[in-house]
Amino acid sequence: MDINQASEAFRVLLQEQLTRLEKMNCEKTDFTKKDVITIGVIDGDGIGPIITQHATRVLENLLADKIAAGKIVLKKIEGLTLQNRLAQGKPIPDDVLANIKTCDVLLKGPTETPMGGTLESANVTMRRELDLYANVRPVCIPEKNIDWIFYRENTEGEYVLGSRGVELPGMAVDFKVITDLGTRRIARAAFEYARQNGKTHLSVVTKANIMKKTDGKFTAICHEIAKDYPEITVEDYYIDIMTANLLIEGFREKFQVFVLPNLYGDILTDEAAQIQGGVGTAGSANIGDRYAMFEAIHGSAPRLIAAGLGDYANPTSILKAAAMLLRHICCTAEAEKLEAALEKCPVKVTGDRDGATCAQFADALMQIL
Ligand code: NAD
Repeated sequence: MDINQASEAFRVLLQEQLTRLEKMNCEKTDFTKKDVITIGVIDGDGIGPIITQHATRVLENLLADKIAAGKIVLKKIEGLTLQNRLAQGKPIPDDVLANIKTCDVLLKGPTETPMGGTLESANVTMRRELDLYANVRPVCIPEKNIDWIFYRENTEGEYVLGSRGVELPGMAVDFKVITDLGTRRIARAAFEYARQNGKTHLSVVTKANIMKKTDGKFTAICHEIAKDYPEITVEDYYIDIMTANLLIEGFREKFQVFVLPNLYGDILTDEAAQIQGGVGTAGSANIGDRYAMFEAIHGSAPRLIAAGLGDYANPTSILKAAAMLLRHICCTAEAEKLEAALEKCPVKVTGDRDGATCAQFADALMQIL
């Protein structure tokens, strides 16, 4: 690329972002008013098919009556595999995306994103295509007095334009975008959660001292929304110090709700999940007004597969995501039942042969259910 081509690429990108802004407002799905709710199940790559298979068994068990009555449909979505995505040269092949859009909510196994190359992440694409703007990740360790929930903006920041950078001889440039509307809706979601759940402290985490335009906007808009929630104390933190704060016992317990742009949210939630006991132990929700997708927070664990240990993958993370899905579609009793069973399940999965297999864990869970 030369400088003129790079400038043209940037112009196209800005135009696309303005078009995205125009389409941003959408009516929220009211699950209490839907006659039939379709849950799409996507296997994904690596350990994905193993953990989703057992999560599906658990969902079928919990929702047996509603499935029999035709109120809930579990629909398998095929084709979101790395092999098919590479063959079709699309992060989500068109027919797969059309199928996904026939569902209301999705339970998704992790999908692999090759390093380098041009294939965009299936997750980034799905969040953009379904406008899943809020990535919600709870982290709870009662014995340590930790009860955190992260509201990570999911459709903007660095990731949404991550495959749209420009390369000139000897130089590469990526772009980051933050919009008023995009920030308002994630901030509103975080503050609403805080109010509805009796939380009194919310942290806005950015790097606004350095990224003055984008993170500066994010912070300013969060404070604008905060005026509607006077009962909630709002504090600003920079991402670097916040990664340290989460490790300080005696201080970290004060944090309750976090709202963050995309990249910082990605990093901080993995750290928080690790504090909870590893990325295998946390669920994640990707929520939009029309659709929602629920998944484990970890990846496809290719090293586990390469070591022949796929059957020893821990399904806890995707099962926690399944509980969040149930809550989202107003199956609260079923969600509580699953959460209680997960707490009680005595079987330990370590990701190695010294622990139980994914199937043994699911069998024990089904016994409790
Ligand atoms: P990873 O989460 O796949 O693995 C990190 C470590 O955790 C590895 O040691 C792995 O063996 C272990 N691990 C992960 N899940 C586990 C489980 N359920 N049980 C036991 N051990 C588990 O992260 P990575 O290696 O950085 O990424 C691998 C691939 O996954 C990449 O292609 C990446 O793009 C993709 N990924 C996908 C998602 C998603 O679809 N939501 C999220 C993160 C990474």
